[in-house]
Amino acid sequence: MNHEGSSVLGKSAVILVIVAIVAIALNLAFAHSLHFESLGLFGFGLFCLFYAGAISPLSRHTHAKAKPVPATPARKTLLGLSIIDRQGLSHKQPFEPSARPCHALTVDLEDYFHTEVASQGISFSDWEHQPSRIEPSTHRLLDLLDRNRTHATFFVLGWVARRYPRLIREIHHRGHEIACHSLDHQRVNRMTPTQFYESTANAKDLIESIVQEPIFGYRAPCFSITPGCEWAFDALAKLGFSYDSSVHPVHHPTYGNPNAPRSAYPVANDQLMEFPIATWKVAGHNLSVGGGAYLRLLPFQYIQRGLASWEKDMQSPAMLYLHPWEIDPYQPYIPLSFQSTVRQTWGTSMMEDKLQRLLHQFRFAPVRVAHKGVLQDKGCSPRKSTFQTEKAVTQVAG
Ligand SMILES: [Zn+2]
Repeated sequence: MNHEGSSVLGKSAVILVIVAIVAIALNLAFAHSLHFESLGLFGFGLFCLFYAGAISPLSRHTHAKAKPVPATPARKTLLGLSIIDRQGLSHKQPFEPSARPCHALTVDLEDYFHTEVASQGISFSDWEHQPSRIEPSTHRLLDLLDRNRTHATFFVLGWVARRYPRLIREIHHRGHEIACHSLDHQRVNRMTPTQFYESTANAKDLIESIVQEPIFGYRAPCFSITPGCEWAFDALAKLGFSYDSSVHPVHHPTYGNPNAPRSAYPVANDQLMEFPIATWKVAGHNLSVGGGAYLRLLPFQYIQRGLASWEKDMQSPAMLYLHPWEIDPYQPYIPLSFQSTVRQTWGTSMMEDKLQRLLHQFRFAPVRVAHKGVLQDKGCSPRKSTFQTEKAVTQVAG
C-alpha cells in the first residue's frame, strides 16, 4: 500500500472509531428517546459499516483533486450520490434528472411549543402566552426553499392558521401546497371518532377559508393514526380529503406501525391514499429516513444513504417531513428533562445546512406533484408551479 493509501485508511479508521464511540454513547444514553433499543449495538455496528463505506470513497475523492484522474462512469457515480468536498459543499452528480424520482417534501406547520415533547413543560392552556417563533422560522424555511426552487406541502395546524392567516396566505402564494395538521394538535389515538371528525372538519373549514380553495391532504399529530384507529381514514375520506400521511412504519412506543406498508397504499375503501413516512430496511428492521429528528440528530450521511436505498428499492416518491422550529436555534427555554431537551432542541443550528444539502442532492415537490399519478384520479391535481417575487407575495397575501 502506498503512502497516500495508508493515509486515507488511517483517516477513515479514526473517523470510524469516533463515529462508533458517539453512536454507542448515544445508544446507551438516549435509547428510550431515540428508539434504537430494538436494534441495539448491532444496528449501530451496521450503521458504522455503512458510514465507513461512505467515508472511504469521499476521502479518495479529496486526494483525487490534487492529482487529476480521468473521469470514468464509475467515478462519476461515486456512492450513487453527490460528491462532498472537505468544506461540506456538494456538487451535483451527473444523474439523469428523469431517472430519479421526485420525493414529497412536507412541513408540519406548528410552533416549538406545540410538540408532544414540549407538552411536558407547557400545557395547552399556556399556548396563548408563549412567545411565538412561527413567523421568523417559517420565513427562513420559505427563503431556503425559494433559493433551491423547491415547493413543499405545508400541513397547517388549525391553531396556527387562526392566529397567523396572513402567514398561511403567504405560504400559499409562494407556490406551496396547503394541507391540514389537525385543529389543536390532539393525537388521533386519544380521541373518539366523533371528536376527531368534528375537530378535523373545523380545521379544514378554517384553513380553506384562508386559502380560498379546497385542501386535500391530512397529517395527524405525532403520526397518531396507529393500529386500531383505522376509522380515522373513513372520516378523512368523508370530509373530502384525498390523501393522508399519518403512518410511520417503524417501531416506536407511541406512534409506530412497523407492519404497515412502506410505500403508498389505498385505505377507506380506496377513497383515500396513505403515503407513509420514508423508511430504510436494514437487517429486517424499518429505520426512519423521513427527516424530522432523524435528519436533525443523526449524521447527514444516514439520511443520504437511506434515501439512496429507497430510490434503488422502491422506485416511487419517498415522504419526508420537518418542522419550522427544527431550523430555529433560538427557541425560548422550556423546562424539560435532559432527554426531552435533546429531542426538542439539539441539532437545530445544523438543520438548515443539512436541509440545504438534501435539497441539493435530491429532487423534491409537494405531495400533489410527487404523487400526481395516483392523486389525479381522486380529483386532486397539482397547482401550477410558480416562484413569485417577495413583493408580489406581500401584495397578494396582505
Ligand atoms: Zn405536529
